[in-house]
Amino acid sequence: MVCMHMVNVCATGIIPFMAKPSSQSTSSGRARPLDPESKPDDRVDHALRPQKLADIIGQDQVKENLSILIDAAKHRSEALDHVLFYGPPGLGKTTLAHVLGNEMGVNVKVTAGPAIERAGDLAAILTNLRAGDVIFIDEIHRLGRAVEEVLYPAMEDYSLDIVIGKGPSARSIRLKLPRFTVVGATTRLALVTAPLRARFGAVYRLDYYDIAAMQNIVKRAASMLKVSADETGIDEMARRARGTPRIALRLLRRVRDYAQVRADGLINQKVAKEALDLLQVDPLGLDDVDRRVLKTIIEKYSGGPVGLNTIAASISEEQDTIMDVVEPYLLQLGFLDRTSQGRVATKSAYEHLGYEYTEEGQPRLL
Ligand code: ADP
Repeated sequence: MVCMHMVNVCATGIIPFMAKPSSQSTSSGRARPLDPESKPDDRVDHALRPQKLADIIGQDQVKENLSILIDAAKHRSEALDHVLFYGPPGLGKTTLAHVLGNEMGVNVKVTAGPAIERAGDLAAILTNLRAGDVIFIDEIHRLGRAVEEVLYPAMEDYSLDIVIGKGPSARSIRLKLPRFTVVGATTRLALVTAPLRARFGAVYRLDYYDIAAMQNIVKRAASMLKVSADETGIDEMARRARGTPRIALRLLRRVRDYAQVRADGLINQKVAKEALDLLQVDPLGLDDVDRRVLKTIIEKYSGGPVGLNTIAASISEEQDTIMDVVEPYLLQLGFLDRTSQGRVATKSAYEHLGYEYTEEGQPRLL
């Protein structure tokens, strides 16, 4: 047995939940209404979180797979298999972890990769779990190597190797853990190490929501928050929320404020459009940062290809923000291509921003 797998009990501690450094504002300091990372005022959304699988709107395939997983585990009276969710922020990974806990009737402990600094931190959480409990690890790709090595045997054999004492008198004991479930979440599947990924029985990708699902999410939230909005207003907000429930809920709150102050309180298409235009959220859900990325590629680099770090430096944004938040949505819209030489703006991107598209890529505003 290698020492790396062992935990020294002296090192255990209480696990704080540490929020990741958020890209909630641009590097220029402006708040982004379309930032899918959680912001402090999104906490009110917790009350809107779907509690059961049947309340989850959209993600039909993931939902069906999860319901089979849950039924099978219940049938065998076992803990749920370990589950890994990946996809852009704000799509419901945390929500699904809580739903799994609710469906199984067990507790959910929430933590995040960067919060578990030492192997002892993880041991403290694991030894406090009850049979069947779920431990939700957000940003699991940011777990340290030593912590991961403790997690492997814990996930596989439900055991923990602990070293008691120091020096020559140190001895190791193996602690049996109750059967528990790890639900991991990541925005970067490629950064999850192969051995960790292999310990998950089920891996699901969460995709951006389609427009019908987004309309239902906005409608449900408006009714729960007692906001008056008609179908046209709901549709306008749903279309501009870039397929992301967290953004939809945030836009709903901002448009509600606008409707109260500048209109008679009812959100219709005109009110939603005015409010969202004021927030610089365009009809396809692009904001200032998305547009600056595309404009830089088009204007400064003749449409590309250009490297991600060059784009990030040109617009003074963080590379991580562009990679996790901006790029996935632009790729989904078909505005960006990723080639081995770098990023390329597509014809649709030129057209959306009002440039004439030429094969040579030289832009000309129409
Ligand atoms: P992630 O963990 O992927 O960043 P969350 O699970 O925190 O995202 O979801 C963000 C918010 O969006 C939650 O507060 C929840 O209310 C809402 N939400 C997410 N998925 C759904 C869904 N399928 N239906 C309704 N609301 C959802």
